[in-house]
Amino acid sequence: MHWPPGTDDVTRLVETLRWVVVHSPYYRRLLADVADIRTYDDFRRQVPRTAKTDLVENQRAHPPFGEFLAAPRAQFGSLHTSPGPILIPRLASERGGTPVLAASIRAMGVRPGDVAHVTLSYHIMPGGLRLHRAFEEAGCLVLNGGTGNSRLQVELARAWEATIYAGTPSFLANLGDTARELGLDPRRDLSYRVGFSTAEALTPALRRDLEDTFGIELFDHCGEAQIGPLAGECRMHDGMHLHAADLFCEFLDPETGEPVAAGGTGELVATQLGPRALPLVRYAPGDVFRLLPGACPCGDPAPRVVFVGQVGAIRKIKGVLVHPAQVHRALSETPGVARFQIVVDHPEGERYDRAVLRVGLTSFPDDPVAFARAVADRVKAAVLVGMDVELVGADDLPEGAAAPRFADVMVDRRRKA
Ligand SMILES: [Zn+2]
Repeated sequence: MHWPPGTDDVTRLVETLRWVVVHSPYYRRLLADVADIRTYDDFRRQVPRTAKTDLVENQRAHPPFGEFLAAPRAQFGSLHTSPGPILIPRLASERGGTPVLAASIRAMGVRPGDVAHVTLSYHIMPGGLRLHRAFEEAGCLVLNGGTGNSRLQVELARAWEATIYAGTPSFLANLGDTARELGLDPRRDLSYRVGFSTAEALTPALRRDLEDTFGIELFDHCGEAQIGPLAGECRMHDGMHLHAADLFCEFLDPETGEPVAAGGTGELVATQLGPRALPLVRYAPGDVFRLLPGACPCGDPAPRVVFVGQVGAIRKIKGVLVHPAQVHRALSETPGVARFQIVVDHPEGERYDRAVLRVGLTSFPDDPVAFARAVADRVKAAVLVGMDVELVGADDLPEGAAAPRFADVMVDRRRKA
């Protein structure tokens, strides 16, 4: 997939839309004028988005699979479930994201013969099985660890000399603690060389901690329950390459809906390409990414993205989209910061917005001026917006401002037009 889309991408998109309206009652009703769609702009202007709630509500109203369904049950190869609940049938011919994962795995330096320890859930949800199949396809010997049972998992990883860890960073941290409890040295007694980190944020501090603990090279990866794997880091560790090959991905300004260029920040809207048991067109899971400009030195021409956060809490400040999660990451290594709040105002007669970052502290620094300046510099480097920093007690800020929901972080006092 290219962004902005190329001619081939649009051709595949139009072919898919024609197939979808023939087979899916939901989209047949929604896309009555599909014959008029020839360009990306036609598509963007004429096709509404599908939200997760549309899918959940439709499956509830028309159980079990809803009107999105585009194939008879006899053609299903497997059936996954994701929170909602959403039932996700898959055709036997659908690869379910495995080639995308296999591409990401190879970019991480995984080799045939590696022993991959997969610790995502194999239970009901698609993640564990999908990752398992991808490591098999990459020529690895795969250990189906699943979740929990950390003592047993450490023993298995040790016995099988697992070289690859695949799962959440928090469970890897748990395995490190468990190994020490068992009297083991995670660096010496376990053989992990590469870590495939997914389904949770991999903060710089956590990455460094885990790399030190295990002597491992960690690679961030992201995907989404319905549309599957999206992007993964290469060995440059500067953004995740968009490996998704059977998705038409759009990155749109969350406020205007216009496509964003490299360097910009946009909400992901994805259309699954090719025949699917349950096709999704312009599906918007609410994830916002920054698109990195320029080519990656690794030589992979696939665009690179950095996950920013969920669309709900994002605000445009001084013309730049800012997500609380970016500020949280920037402050994650600053001692004494419990939570923070961002107050945006547009003072009368002023040309620009004014943003105040209220930093809630559990203990005050000896030199508050230098501390505030360091915080301001760190945040500006991360979000590209200058903010005035105000130091307050943690209790002066609402508890709802805390990670990961950030519900009360943004206080927008600008007058709405
Ligand atoms: Zn690269």
